[in-house]
Amino acid sequence: MQTLDKTQTKFAQLATRLSEIVDIESASSVLYWDQATYMPAKGASARGRQLGTLKQISHEKFTDPKIGELLEDLRDYEQSLPCDSTAASLIRIARRDYDRAVRVPASFMAKLCRHQADCYEAWAVAKADNNFAAVAPELEKTLELSRQYADFFPNCEHIADSLIDRSDYGMKVSILRPLFAQLRQALVPIVEAITSNPPADDSCLQQEFPAPQQLEFTRTVVERMGYDFHVRITTRVYEDRLDQALFSSIHEAGHALYELGNSPELEGTMLAGGVSSGVHESQSRLWENLVGRSRGFWECFYPQLQGVFLRQLGHITTDEFYRAINKVARSLVRTDADEVTYNLHVAIRFDLELDMLEGKLAIRDLPEAWRERYKSDLGIVPPTDSEGVMQDVHWYCGTIGGMFQGYTLGNLMSAQFYETAVKAHPEIPVEIEQGNFEILHEWLKQNIYQHGRKYTAAEMVDRVTGAPLSIDPFVRYIRHKYGEFYVI
Ligand code: ZN
Repeated sequence: MQTLDKTQTKFAQLATRLSEIVDIESASSVLYWDQATYMPAKGASARGRQLGTLKQISHEKFTDPKIGELLEDLRDYEQSLPCDSTAASLIRIARRDYDRAVRVPASFMAKLCRHQADCYEAWAVAKADNNFAAVAPELEKTLELSRQYADFFPNCEHIADSLIDRSDYGMKVSILRPLFAQLRQALVPIVEAITSNPPADDSCLQQEFPAPQQLEFTRTVVERMGYDFHVRITTRVYEDRLDQALFSSIHEAGHALYELGNSPELEGTMLAGGVSSGVHESQSRLWENLVGRSRGFWECFYPQLQGVFLRQLGHITTDEFYRAINKVARSLVRTDADEVTYNLHVAIRFDLELDMLEGKLAIRDLPEAWRERYKSDLGIVPPTDSEGVMQDVHWYCGTIGGMFQGYTLGNLMSAQFYETAVKAHPEIPVEIEQGNFEILHEWLKQNIYQHGRKYTAAEMVDRVTGAPLSIDPFVRYIRHKYGEFYVI
């Protein structure tokens, strides 16, 4: 009995220490959120200092030898519990994160954090001036720091693996490279076939749409999805475009639903949140694309949208609108890309990251390498570096390596999860046509949301879909959806 009490005390000590770290990390997230939304760019270096300090504190707290000791002492306790219990999962996930964290000195993490803030600030200026040379020295330093980070993990097969592991635990270059290659092989001919036809007419989306009405309609949609407005999501409204605010809000609401659906007992623990960047993205993309860009969804919502924007959309049919929001085009900007070409944008970035880390590509040659890959893969060349190599913030506020694979993993998983949900509940598409999302939402909660970080991405995909991650469901989905209009 006494041993059990002792064990319980140790577990409680571990849980308390971990939740302090979670609180610090959550506070950092608010600072990041502010930096990405409201904070003027000139605040970046002060913010970098603050974030660096918080990172150092949380890293020191987490890598405290006492945590290692507790994790060690709790091994037997962990073994005695069912492995999917919350307590066993907390110990397991904490140990995994701890083993990674202790390899990296807190001072290095703080240095990286401060550098990221400087690089971000330089990027904002360089992008506005279309002057890659101005940010290149900072990016060189990012590459150097990314390599140094990888050096703390000498047992990894590939230099990028430890960087990928930070956001997509368990994924590595030896899995991802063939996956991207297969996907590219499947998608390039589909893109060819679609874009050899005249482009879909999406001019109906590019009219004047006053922001208040856009936000009101968007609010109706995300409320129907089951979103709770007691928490925040960020969106951006353009008054000359209808699709941006709408689909980015559905996307962000998908991320939010995931975390809001965590089992309440995980709140404030290291198990709260999402499994990985890939699984997180699968939840936002599932709502944004598989649901939000489906025909059934608009059978329900289009008459309402027309009611809000009668002048702009009164003469546009549901079918015309559906085709407009699913226009496939070879475009320059990843975030604006349609779901067919999107993964080609990601593959370019993934390959360039590997080339830089492997020393095959110097930073000064990056803009040219970017142009070449866009030309060969998407058939277009960005006229400026701002629309090319500087379009995404990721490398400039993160690391080189591990920044992009999650988007494609998310797209693949979204199709695999959705296919499984519809197999289990064939009525889901019909329910969506009526604006009812409860069955889908409940399925996602039961199978994915409630578990937080308990399982790895691979375990999750396997548990939920009964099969390992594959490109097939995604390719099937694309062929089926676009096969309605094109011979693919
Ligand atoms: Zn996302």
